[in-house]
Amino acid sequence: MPTPLHVLVTGATGRTGAIVIQKLQQQPEQFNPKGFARSEAKVKELFGTADGFYLGDISDPDRLKAALEGCDALVILTSAIPQMKAPPEPGQRPEFIYPEGGTPEQVDYQGQINQIEAAKAAGVQHIVLVGSMGGTNEQHPLNRMANGNILIWKRRAEAYLIASGLDYTIIRAGGLQDQPGGQRELIVGKDDELLANPPDGIPTSIPRADVAEVVVQALGSPAARNKAFDVISKPEGTPGAVVTTDFDALFERTTPGL
Ligand code: NAP
Repeated sequence: MPTPLHVLVTGATGRTGAIVIQKLQQQPEQFNPKGFARSEAKVKELFGTADGFYLGDISDPDRLKAALEGCDALVILTSAIPQMKAPPEPGQRPEFIYPEGGTPEQVDYQGQINQIEAAKAAGVQHIVLVGSMGGTNEQHPLNRMANGNILIWKRRAEAYLIASGLDYTIIRAGGLQDQPGGQRELIVGKDDELLANPPDGIPTSIPRADVAEVVVQALGSPAARNKAFDVISKPEGTPGAVVTTDFDALFERTTPGL
């Protein structure tokens, strides 16, 4: 891989995106990261400066084009974000909506296509895309949320990336947790089989910091190229668990195709 690798991270002010940026910034000999975000105030709040960030919306191909110039790799960490309609009445379930312009079809499908096409035009070699487990099940509660079909649209964008001809790594995470990374054994799977049959009935979740580490490792590992996989973690302290440190070996256990 060229060093330093020029990487654009979209969703850079998101909870996982910000960790990816921080991890890449800590390895300046290997990585030259730039972030793409829509709020300058949020960038400054998180990183202290907007230097090294491009401001824009993924619905705007021109902003993506400018940000991707000279990049070797793109990390896609954008996602539609549902909003609660109003605090629920006692005993009622909360109702959600997606903001105008922010539906899963607009963000997770068209917005990702915009990113893939802009990357292709810019000569980017590799796209690392973070998605979500559950996309094989139309009835998954996240698909029903605000009737957004978010996991379906995410999976369609993954298929688009695979068909694009660019090298890809598609990381479909289990439920994300704000927990420390580097403390757990990670488990990879495919087609939501881990959701149906988690080993020893463990929770199908993973810390955002571990997902961010998988992203960073995928950028540098040939074994992660042209692979798509689900990933969860064994809870900290699980007897017999071995903390994952050999990411090439982890990626060797993953397979090409959706
Ligand atoms: P997050 O905090 O929700 O961040 C999403 C990012 O997307 C935010 O930075 C947001 O910008 C950005 N974004 C949304 N629409 C945009 C637009 N039109 N233009 C530019 N940027 C836009 O993400 P996360 O919770 O860390 O999740 C990371 C990924 O994992 C997502 O794809 C998510 O769906 C997936 N995932 C989540 C779970 C879970 O349990 N939550 C489970 C599995 C997988 P702002 O910062 O300006 O809002």
